[in-house]
Amino acid sequence: MPELPEVEVIRRSLQNRVQGGSIVALHVNRADIVRAGLPTVSWYTDTIITGVTRRGKCVIFTCQGTHETRHIVSELGMTGLWFFQQNLAASPQHLHVHLTLSGTTAHDLHYWNPRRFGRIWLLNDQELETFVLRRFGPEALDLNESTFVALVKGCRGRLKPFLLDQHHMAGIGNIYANEILFRAGIHPHARGNRLHLTTCHRLFHAMGQTFQEAIAAGGSSIRDFRAPDGSRGHFQEAHLVYQKERHPCPHGCQASITRIPGDRSSFYCPVCQKKR
Ligand SMILES: [Zn+2]
Repeated sequence: MPELPEVEVIRRSLQNRVQGGSIVALHVNRADIVRAGLPTVSWYTDTIITGVTRRGKCVIFTCQGTHETRHIVSELGMTGLWFFQQNLAASPQHLHVHLTLSGTTAHDLHYWNPRRFGRIWLLNDQELETFVLRRFGPEALDLNESTFVALVKGCRGRLKPFLLDQHHMAGIGNIYANEILFRAGIHPHARGNRLHLTTCHRLFHAMGQTFQEAIAAGGSSIRDFRAPDGSRGHFQEAHLVYQKERHPCPHGCQASITRIPGDRSSFYCPVCQKKR
């Protein structure tokens, strides 16, 4: 948490409210959150926020100046969020960075991260490219069907950890991996290269549909997830298997959802997701 749909919900909300604006002040409350230097003065003078993008669990603000473009890369990690108002954060002591904006409908942006697994960087174009290449494969939602199938066919081990590895494709975490595999009817321990081609295509469509539905529902608000305006997502109400151990299978097959324990537990239906 957050995973691709939640990061996308945050990105869209930020983009709507801050694109075209300028940073007029920047305050860092916790220096250890900031990496590679995030100077609190001068660099943002005469820059315009030209866009907000997403890579993996990072939300990236692009600030274009007359001579140089810089990117504020904010990693959300396990618990990171952005808020338009500081009173939206459950625990204000975990508000680590504050941006004051002008020329936008949002006047303040607060980076909140209680467990502090996320970091913030200020990078130029070249540094951003290196940063992204080191950490992330292609974005899961940007993959076309044939590239996706080729990646899955190249997986010699268990499919679920493969999907969770951000170097293979970025954005899938444990909640959505479980939901996607159930929808595609694939056992979490199945091996990618042994899947039938039609199964790989089914997996691709299950991924796209699951993500699109989750984004439309505002993401899954389990634990602390909130959009920047404080609103909750609703996709947790549509989860079919994640944390549904012993619930009846939603396909009505008479089996119960089973959990394979681990630090990233798997939830699956032993009938609908047979290990072939
Ligand atoms: Zn079932």
